[in-house]
Amino acid sequence: MEQHRSINPRIAALNPYKPGKPVDEVARELGINDIVKLASNENPRGPGEKVQQAIADASKELSRYPDGGGFVLKARLAEKIGLDPAQLTLGNGSNDVLDLIARVVLEPGAQAIVAEHSFVVYRLAVTCCGGDLVTVPAKAYGADLPAMLDAVTDQTRLVFIANPNNPTGTRTPDSELLPFLEALPEHVWVVLDEAYLEYADADDHPNGASLLGRFPNLIVTRTFSKVYGLAAVRFGYGASSPEFADLLNRARQPFNVNALAMAASLAALDDDDYVNESVVLNRAGMAQMTQGLSALGYDYIPSAGNFVAFDCGEPGDALFQRMLKEGVIVRAIAEYGLPNHVRVSIGLAAENERFLSVLAQVGARSKANTES
Ligand SMILES: *Cc1c(COP(=O)(O)O)cnc(C)c1O
Repeated sequence: MEQHRSINPRIAALNPYKPGKPVDEVARELGINDIVKLASNENPRGPGEKVQQAIADASKELSRYPDGGGFVLKARLAEKIGLDPAQLTLGNGSNDVLDLIARVVLEPGAQAIVAEHSFVVYRLAVTCCGGDLVTVPAKAYGADLPAMLDAVTDQTRLVFIANPNNPTGTRTPDSELLPFLEALPEHVWVVLDEAYLEYADADDHPNGASLLGRFPNLIVTRTFSKVYGLAAVRFGYGASSPEFADLLNRARQPFNVNALAMAASLAALDDDDYVNESVVLNRAGMAQMTQGLSALGYDYIPSAGNFVAFDCGEPGDALFQRMLKEGVIVRAIAEYGLPNHVRVSIGLAAENERFLSVLAQVGARSKANTES
């Protein structure tokens, strides 16, 4: 298509974001009902009862605008994580906050640094602000922080680190993060994206919120889309210095978080059992999946999240298509620079079993197939 002269060429050059294929769409296209979606790192359990009740209650008050400042939710959240409410910025998913951060920090010609194979939303946010993205080669599929530090120039304003990272599941321990934060020049902001924090339970795993006091240029983002089981609701938040949060809140659309999302998130926040049970379920599912992958002859990238990426020995999209026909939705990740890997989310035990048996059946590298 010919480029319209009044369109921002950077936007026209963006690749559209490819979400995990929705269950309804697969059902429609293939005419099958028994579908397992392991494509978007969602919590495989439905929302807790307290959350459902909170949404039902809040649905009686839909004609008024929500509290644009999110007073109640912010106060409860701040108490829970040990920060001041003035340090928080509420978002319509944490992607909304990532986008706000880029808008506050960047302008045309400013640089942002990311690691190879990191979350695609960073690219989207930076490009839309006219910023230049600098991608630093990964080390063992993960962020190479010393190399990212070397890449900092006078033009650098922002560094994104997902910890753990999606889609690789790699993580950055204290011993790598702290020296990096200490060495980073003051003019550079760091976003620590902790979407999968709750799953990363190693003793040496950083907790970004507890580092804010020491590093004024640190910004932490978190989400209720993963372990809290509320991906459809769209709620996430940023935590930073109060001064930076004030800037984010100036750039924010006044009612970016809707009333149902605030009510649901407030209820979810206090449901510690739901979170703990989900982490335990994930740990068992991760063992089931990684043992199953190994048994079938696949190498995987050890993951600290609720998903695992494995080398399928052929273009990931080809395996994705064959598994789709059997009713199992996974994610090809060529757009992350991993053309022969597929990412699979950890589901319920029966869903994981179904994934493994379909992989055994249709995977080009599955032992059952290569031996026959
Ligand atoms: C899923 C995910 C998010 C969360 O996105 P939401 O907009 O909160 O749903 C953020 N960062 C990473 C790395 C993710 O994988």
